[in-house]
Amino acid sequence: MDTPRRNRYLEAIGVDVWVRRPGGPLGDIDVGVERAESSAQRAVPAELEPMVVTPASYGEQEITLLADGGPPAPVPSAIPVSDGTAARWEALHSEVLSCTKCGLSKTRTQGVLGVGPQRADWMVIGEAPGAEEDRRGEPFVGRAGQLLDAMLRATGLSRGSNVYIANVLKSRPPGNRDPKPEEVAACLPYLMRQIVLLQPRLMLAVGRIAAQNLLSTDMALGRLRGKVHHFGELNTPLIVTYHPAYLLRTPADKRKAWEDLKFARSVFRQLTDRMGTDGDLS
Ligand code: URA
Repeated sequence: MDTPRRNRYLEAIGVDVWVRRPGGPLGDIDVGVERAESSAQRAVPAELEPMVVTPASYGEQEITLLADGGPPAPVPSAIPVSDGTAARWEALHSEVLSCTKCGLSKTRTQGVLGVGPQRADWMVIGEAPGAEEDRRGEPFVGRAGQLLDAMLRATGLSRGSNVYIANVLKSRPPGNRDPKPEEVAACLPYLMRQIVLLQPRLMLAVGRIAAQNLLSTDMALGRLRGKVHHFGELNTPLIVTYHPAYLLRTPADKRKAWEDLKFARSVFRQLTDRMGTDGDLS
């Protein structure tokens, strides 16, 4: 993705973007860009081993978040799936639509499985469907979903082509209350099946509830950010960031979320480089 385009996306989601001031006292060199690029470089762990890495840019110092000026981000087309895989997705979808494994089935309109291609390298996981998602049968379609889409777009990702979006819970909790442990336990097998079918290379947990449930921890979200965790039997790398609904309430933290996305992208690049495959997103 070219820099002006990414800047427009970032401006749209409320992340401050510094622009080059031609002929200014510093000439064509924008120190902000320079600083951001070196901070982005520092955010890229030298090696994924050991697998828990913390980018230096997560310290207390002020971080200037900017378009990272990387090369264009092609949106890879959907990875083809076999007939067998498509049939297994279909079966999973029907099961979730009519699931009665927990009490939420009595109050929800419909089960919400997920959205996106049936094979994707990236998987985003939120908490549970809200009112709009419950009505429409698709995750993240309300205001928070629009912000999520914009953030993903700035990263070169879109639910229409290369990222799959799901929730820990497939049914809406009444009044959007937090999921109960027994509801999570009943629903997790669906998520496991989604992961087996999707084979994501990287998972992004958005928000405290998703992160804590996926990682079986009660650690604060701030302490879970900036590290590569792993999920499930497939040991899928998992990165944690803020929930877009939280970012709508706390726009000052949008730039931290953008830092998380840049970190996720750098980790993804390293994973695909290590595998010798072309997973480059920008
Ligand atoms: N919040 C979530 O966590 N998931 C959704 O699908 C919508 C809002």
